[in-house]
Amino acid sequence: MLKSGKEYLEGLRDGRRVYLGNELVEDITTHEAFRNAANSFSLIYDMKAAPEHRDVMSYEHNGNQYSSYFLMPKTDQDLKKRMETHRRIAEWSHGLLGRSPDHVASFVTGLAMKPEMFEEIGKGYGSNIIKYYEHMRDNDIFACYTVLPPQGARKPELYEREGMTVPTLRVSDEDDSGVTLNGMKMLGTSAIFSNETWVGNLLPLGANQEKESITCAVPLNETGVSIWSRKSLEKYAVTEFDNPLSWRFDESDAMVVFENVKVPWEKVFVHDNPEMSRGIYVKSPSHSMGNHQSNIRFLEKLKLIVGIAHKIVEANGVGHIPAVQGILGELAAQQAALEAMIKGQLNEPESLVDGYININRRYMYAALHWCTTNYSRICDVIRDLMGGGPFQMPADISVIENSEMKNTFEKYWSVPGQSAIDRMKLYKLAWDLIGSEFAGRHLQYERFYAGPSFVVTNYSYLNAPWDTFGGLVDDILDSY
Ligand SMILES: Cc1cc2nc3c(=O)[nH]c(=O)nc-3n(C[C@H](O)[C@H](O)[C@H](O)COP(=O)(O)OP(=O)(O)OC[C@H]3O[C@@H](n4cnc5c(N)ncnc54)[C@H](O)[C@@H]3O)c2cc1C
Repeated sequence: MLKSGKEYLEGLRDGRRVYLGNELVEDITTHEAFRNAANSFSLIYDMKAAPEHRDVMSYEHNGNQYSSYFLMPKTDQDLKKRMETHRRIAEWSHGLLGRSPDHVASFVTGLAMKPEMFEEIGKGYGSNIIKYYEHMRDNDIFACYTVLPPQGARKPELYEREGMTVPTLRVSDEDDSGVTLNGMKMLGTSAIFSNETWVGNLLPLGANQEKESITCAVPLNETGVSIWSRKSLEKYAVTEFDNPLSWRFDESDAMVVFENVKVPWEKVFVHDNPEMSRGIYVKSPSHSMGNHQSNIRFLEKLKLIVGIAHKIVEANGVGHIPAVQGILGELAAQQAALEAMIKGQLNEPESLVDGYININRRYMYAALHWCTTNYSRICDVIRDLMGGGPFQMPADISVIENSEMKNTFEKYWSVPGQSAIDRMKLYKLAWDLIGSEFAGRHLQYERFYAGPSFVVTNYSYLNAPWDTFGGLVDDILDSY
């Protein structure tokens, strides 16, 4: 069923424990640190259900209407529908909400396409994944994922020491009703705004880490769960004019702590199986479906960055200089290349599970590698183009509240064809995208959201047709 924005916001008032510093946040939908981002997520729900988007962004199954990111693709048309759904969601937030509701939903949909893999892991786990997928789909659930142990807690000798608090999440007990979790997971982007968290391991575990291999789903208001937010950037946005992006798109990142949290067996998907705790994602369409969304999201952000670059050089009066046009041309070429890499994923699909169709994994991993590697370089180019522009501007827009100052500001800061206020507005937007603390967090996000760079590169290594490449060499060697 399609949820409305209002229903989504009501769902966040569920007694969850969110800590911001030492403050227990009572209602994130009204709190100054989170309310605008909560509203941005709620708009996604309203807009995808609106008549003009409904056809593409939802699909009908057994008389019910569901969000298209739950669609298990069987045809080229299904892949297109999924892609356009991701694109519209990303377009509405300019790619700044990395973990929008379609991200983890795509991971779970990809897992549910291969229930037999779960049945091999544990009896009944196959139907668990199907039921969880249906629960998410039927209730339009927004899930985040916490799939990494915290830094500094990865060596077994650290958490096996007698009497030590368990830093990384593991199963501390189990009985007929389910498992008990204790420990902490990093790093729940948009955990504060999600209904549930998917708990698991996206990076490999050691063979002796059976109890850490637990993969399950936990509602974020479950007894014993607490969410520890990083610094809110929305709270410190000066005004909407001064920090337009921090103001409404700070999806936040948070550590999630589990203290004696009970998880019923029907929400458990992997247990006591370190290999498959990570294997489920890459042995099913899950990882590629989730990261296809990431590619598309990045592309929408890149379009905004290229647009900002163009506006900035015009505002600086340097847009006519051939060398500057060359820089813009390079940015435009990079944007087009990424778009082609994404569209190519649909042009040469593959089948990972009988009866279903999947985007081309190698092209998706190439795009993922491209995005991770190039983001900071692209931001550097925009910094170059901005020069000292952002720092010519007054501290904030309050300058125009004083009529004398406003006149002086207009007199000296305006240029032919552009008022001082318009210039300031553009520079404030550009700085929030490229230079502010919000921008700095995005720099880190784009580097790490899919794992560190050596892991991202390894996906391309693992999926490359080395036999084919080597065969080309053999053919030449054998020919003389
Ligand atoms: C903004 C942001 C949002 C995130 N959102 C989420 C989320 O929603 N859910 C989630 O589960 N996780 C999330 N993460 C976590 C992310 O997956 C991890 O940051 C990432 O996997 C890297 O792990 P780490 O931070 O522990 O770094 P580390 O593993 O400590 O690595 C740090 C650096 O150490 C070096 N290094 C470490 N090991 C090796 C090695 N074997 N070989 C070579 N060099 C090495 C590399 O330079 C690496 O970049 C997020 C991270 C960030 C920054």
